[in-house]
Amino acid sequence: MENSKIALSPSHYNIYLFSNHKLIVWNTVNDKLVIVSRDSDLYQLYASHACSNTPKFGLFEAKLGSEEAVHILCGFLDIKDNKVTFTRKSSAMSKHDKNELEIVIATTLGCNFGCAYCCQGLEKDFKYFDSSLVDDIIRIVDCSEVRKLHITWYGGEPLLYHKIIEDASIRIRDYCTSYDILYSSDLLTNGYLLTNATAAKLQKAGIGFIQISLDGSKQSHNNSRYLKNGSPTFDTIMRNIQLIEADISLNIKISVRINIISSDLKADAIIRDLLHYEVDRWNKTRFYLAPIEARVGTDQSFNPKGISTPEFAELYQDFIKLAKVQSVPYFIPGFYRGLCTATKDYSMVIDPNGNIFKCWDEIVQKEKAIATTNCNSDKIFSKITTSLWNDFDASETNYCMNCKLLPVCGGHCGKKHEDIVAHLGYHSACPPIKLMLKEYILDRSLASGLISDHDECDYLSSNISLEFLQII
Ligand code: SF4
Ligand code: SF4
Repeated sequence: MENSKIALSPSHYNIYLFSNHKLIVWNTVNDKLVIVSRDSDLYQLYASHACSNTPKFGLFEAKLGSEEAVHILCGFLDIKDNKVTFTRKSSAMSKHDKNELEIVIATTLGCNFGCAYCCQGLEKDFKYFDSSLVDDIIRIVDCSEVRKLHITWYGGEPLLYHKIIEDASIRIRDYCTSYDILYSSDLLTNGYLLTNATAAKLQKAGIGFIQISLDGSKQSHNNSRYLKNGSPTFDTIMRNIQLIEADISLNIKISVRINIISSDLKADAIIRDLLHYEVDRWNKTRFYLAPIEARVGTDQSFNPKGISTPEFAELYQDFIKLAKVQSVPYFIPGFYRGLCTATKDYSMVIDPNGNIFKCWDEIVQKEKAIATTNCNSDKIFSKITTSLWNDFDASETNYCMNCKLLPVCGGHCGKKHEDIVAHLGYHSACPPIKLMLKEYILDRSLASGLISDHDECDYLSSNISLEFLQII
């Protein structure tokens, strides 16, 4: 149609990061990023949305150029009569996936550490899971249509009895191989017992990824994360990782979660203590920060100052700046659409006695168990798909329903929604990454080649306000 125009509007779920010459647009429904240059027709449309937070329609030739067409297809632009809206259906994409089963096994609640804030309390039960639990897991998978099985080995400290994990992982992996089921596995440990010989055996048993936890700098770590007799542990853990890094026969990947307990911590102290082990030369390991809260079992004499979400985000931003300069391998954990063991249908947490739970945080509360592994598999699948937060839907909560991050965030953690504390622009269940979206978008843009290291400097003074994340 000659001279006809078509009305296009920016999506409500666009988030913008401006430099002097360009603009990065992130659409959270499709979770895609795009660059728009200042001379593009779309730039003004997006700039006006960024200023007013109310998407307005712009008129374009009906015969759309390729840039507009791509933006419509990727959800950055809505066509007037065909408005793309975010629905509960799209947020539940892989929630009901019956092809993939995720099982977290708390191999023991026993631990060689005596961390003051441990949510599992200080009087640990050292009972370990046995081969009958492995029989049960194989039976449960056998009675399902599962094509992918992921096992997370966790504790207590799982490496107290690593041989049992190795044997169990080999049995489950061999079963999966014979039935054409894809098996993957990871392990969460405090790292103190992680020698090269143990890492080699875990790798051979199909465990490809290990997460180790530290508590901030060397000093803060040794202050809260010590052996039962009070001895420090930081150097042993870092030396263990350093030796794994140096061993070319090991290709196991490691992520180090650096817990932040107090706002007294400074990023330069953390970076300094990591560099002591030449982490800038490491290539199997990456570091990230996570806030930690005091839970049940807290030693009353241990009374850290705590850290608010804005304080944590600021510390993480400092950490990233220094990590870039010093080549410390870091990452920012992404959003997970609110999909965790508690909210995903085919997910469960098992304690050493075979009790089945939905939420990681509840394995010391036996009354929260929903079944046991020796129940018949129909009952287990019925329970894990209908219990606790399976029905949790953040789009129904007043706090999340109008948040632009909802499609990728999904309300973050169902359990935290039991007890919300609201702040200006965020609440206590929001992931801290909400306050550091600039860093998140830049990291993703760099990793995907959308921008170069050189371009990144152009975004130094840009920002994303919390107000803009609210759909009005
Ligand atoms: S509800 Fe929260 S604490 Fe529980 S498993 Fe999910 S993310 Fe973890
Ligand atoms: S309000 Fe917070 S928890 Fe809810 S979707 Fe937004 S970022 Fe996530």
